[in-house]
Amino acid sequence: MTRVCPACGRRFDLLDPTWRCCSGPDGRPLPLVLAEPPAAPPSPARLRERPWDLGRYAESLGVPQEAWRLVTLGEGATPLLPAGPRVDGVWVKAEYLSPTLSFKDRGAVLLLAAARAARARRVVVDSSGNAGTAVAAYAARAGLPAEVYVPESTSPQKLAQVRAHGARLHLVPGRREDAAAAAARAADEPGTRYASHVYDPLFHLGTATFVYEVWEQLGGRLPDVFVLPVGNGTLVLGVALGCAVLHAAGHVPALPRIVAVQAATCAPLGAAWRSGNADPVPVHPGPTLAEGIAIAAPARGAEILRAVAASGGAVVTVTDEELLAARADLAERGWYVENTAAVCWAAVRRLRRGPGAPDDPVLTGEVVLPLTGAGAKTGWSP
Ligand SMILES: *Cc1c(COP(=O)(O)O)cnc(C)c1O
Ligand SMILES: [Zn+2]
Repeated sequence: MTRVCPACGRRFDLLDPTWRCCSGPDGRPLPLVLAEPPAAPPSPARLRERPWDLGRYAESLGVPQEAWRLVTLGEGATPLLPAGPRVDGVWVKAEYLSPTLSFKDRGAVLLLAAARAARARRVVVDSSGNAGTAVAAYAARAGLPAEVYVPESTSPQKLAQVRAHGARLHLVPGRREDAAAAAARAADEPGTRYASHVYDPLFHLGTATFVYEVWEQLGGRLPDVFVLPVGNGTLVLGVALGCAVLHAAGHVPALPRIVAVQAATCAPLGAAWRSGNADPVPVHPGPTLAEGIAIAAPARGAEILRAVAASGGAVVTVTDEELLAARADLAERGWYVENTAAVCWAAVRRLRRGPGAPDDPVLTGEVVLPLTGAGAKTGWSP
């Protein structure tokens, strides 16, 4: 499979370490995009003969299955469960049960499989925490050194996790974007693979498996709505891709709506959605407990907005207060998740009661939402 530069059309193999080509109007590199969608998973009947792991979607992963097998830690294959009393038709997918306790493992395993297959000597990543943790773990499994760039404000639990895997941790003062810039410089050194969940579209082939699993777990169909957190859009874009792949193969008759959730104090996509902008609106981010989605200038912002619009969905925002109430409510139902992972539940609670904010969409039909990260990753403060 190949990636393509959206500006000049140059193509790069998925295993090629090149991660950038032309730059956008803001001077930042334009993320490469997949030149063609992956092959679809086979029929449910054929899938039933395979083990319940990511390798069952071998046709759709973009890396050789042997490469995946060498670095897998048992990611994905997470349970899909009814949300419980008084929320009929809402399903929760417990993504925090993956090996590094977040859904980022679905993409990280493919980045490291590619790095190994292409004989990289080291990997570099920047992250607000969980992507760095995932890359550190899979790099350890792959036997490759990892350099992880994170903002100084990253939760101590996530820092400890990165260090434990033997990665070199770089604490970058300033904002999330400063960590990204530092990693990008390191990524240009020879022998390096930029294991970026933002810039490498291979990551989306991994997060698309979230959809394939839901499709199988619901007995060969998809819900009416996916409610998903959105910062850099790795889950939104992977889900949109996965839905498109299943639809194009004739596996599902229609595409679900995607309702994407941002933190009210850092919502470049929420602001763009409300004003009808095709690009993220520049924001001055305020503090939020949802550190995993506090992305002020998402590099794939326009792509994310297009995907949400094409699905007939919407972008909504939730406050820290709603997030904390949702986290507590999830804990009372038995699910202990990190702060960021409560935003979808916060949105579903509000939207199912009816519009609680002026631009709220109406949430109807069957809904699936992920619990993206484990509670032990952030303090418990309500
Ligand atoms: C990364 C992450 C998100 C959001 O993902 P994006 O790819 O940035 O949109 C949500 N929740 C958790 C726990 C995460 O680690
Ligand atoms: Zn180019």
